[in-house]
Amino acid sequence: MLDINKIRADFPILSQQIYCKPLIYFDNGATSQKPKVVIDAITKYYEQLNANIHRGVHKLSQDATDAYEISRGKVQNHINAKFPYEVIFTSGTTHSINAVANGFASILKTGDEVLVSALEHHSNIVPWQMLCEKTGAVLKVIPMNEAGELILSEYDNLLSNKTKIVTVNHISNALGTINPIEYMIKKAHEVGAAILIDGAQATPHLKPDVQALDCDFYVFSGHKICGPTGVGILYGKEEWLRKLPPYQGGGEMIATVSFEKTTYADLPHKFEAGTPNIEGGIVLGTAIDYMNEIGFDNIASYEQELLEYGTKKLLEIEGLKIYGTAKEKASVISFNIDDIHPYDIGTIIDKLGIAVRTGHHCAQPIMDFFCIPGTIRASFAFYNTKEEIDIFVEAVKKAKMMLT
Ligand code: PMP
Repeated sequence: MLDINKIRADFPILSQQIYCKPLIYFDNGATSQKPKVVIDAITKYYEQLNANIHRGVHKLSQDATDAYEISRGKVQNHINAKFPYEVIFTSGTTHSINAVANGFASILKTGDEVLVSALEHHSNIVPWQMLCEKTGAVLKVIPMNEAGELILSEYDNLLSNKTKIVTVNHISNALGTINPIEYMIKKAHEVGAAILIDGAQATPHLKPDVQALDCDFYVFSGHKICGPTGVGILYGKEEWLRKLPPYQGGGEMIATVSFEKTTYADLPHKFEAGTPNIEGGIVLGTAIDYMNEIGFDNIASYEQELLEYGTKKLLEIEGLKIYGTAKEKASVISFNIDDIHPYDIGTIIDKLGIAVRTGHHCAQPIMDFFCIPGTIRASFAFYNTKEEIDIFVEAVKKAKMMLT
């Protein structure tokens, strides 16, 4: 059982007033709030540890390097990667996906196929389109049904020996669908394809085990799991990280440089060109510790309660339609009411102190599938409460009344 009042006290921002109303933050899918331990760790880094890493002989640089590498180890343990050097620090999910897609340019040939799912965020579509344009490979889409679930028989049919990489999110940001990635990973491997899992929306709710999953790449962002912005993770199996060329050239990622030839540094540095987000990397470890202390089993079961409660309450509103009714779903509710524009509802409830997301959620193909301009998305975290949901539902009713 979570002590929600105690947890809420960890998050200074949650006691804020917005337009003289207590803040109700239901935009966790976009970014999570930060607990005091994380905020303090950021300050502590700049007050006590700030130095560039991996190259200084001086004490401060060595201490900062140690803290950075300890944090890499924490991420390794958290996702159960086999080796610390399979964990690459990036600036976020988008950067991680681009690094892999860019690397595949050296592998793909004309006529090869890349499979993306219909449920993807733009950051897991556009880099693959760019890759296909560059290489002459063909982008194919795994379709979904009205519930927002991927159609696995179609996935099976699309897979062939032409498929070189499959890319799919673990949890959809727009609809909350939890995808059957275990099955998809197994099937991709049966045809010899690699598979990348976009864990941006999954890592706030669960602890992925990359060895048990057997995925080739798993990517996520620090800012969605109570950590700072501008830091994220690219996990890759060693064999893939060795095979792919580096994404960016520069300092840190080299072994030797001459004007005739450059050789690259070993993993993980090969993929970490330039001065990284040192503070972000270190503090990501603090955020992961914090979430593990709360416990992902507790987080998942409490958020599931919020999801069920919120769904039931919202469906009492006449004309309200929820998009994304998959059997396996995370704490995301995407909805519209009749033909009211989502932005109008979002704007009214904002004035009541409630933060939700409105629009296409960087997933325009999903909106096109449902023939809608966007949705209102409430995404709950472990620090939200049923009382907040009650206030939110009343606010939505009020907005509906004002707009009809
Ligand atoms: N994939 C998914 C499923 C996401 O929800 C997001 C963030 N909304 C991203 C990728 C991109 O993450 P970032 O902006 O942190 O790079």
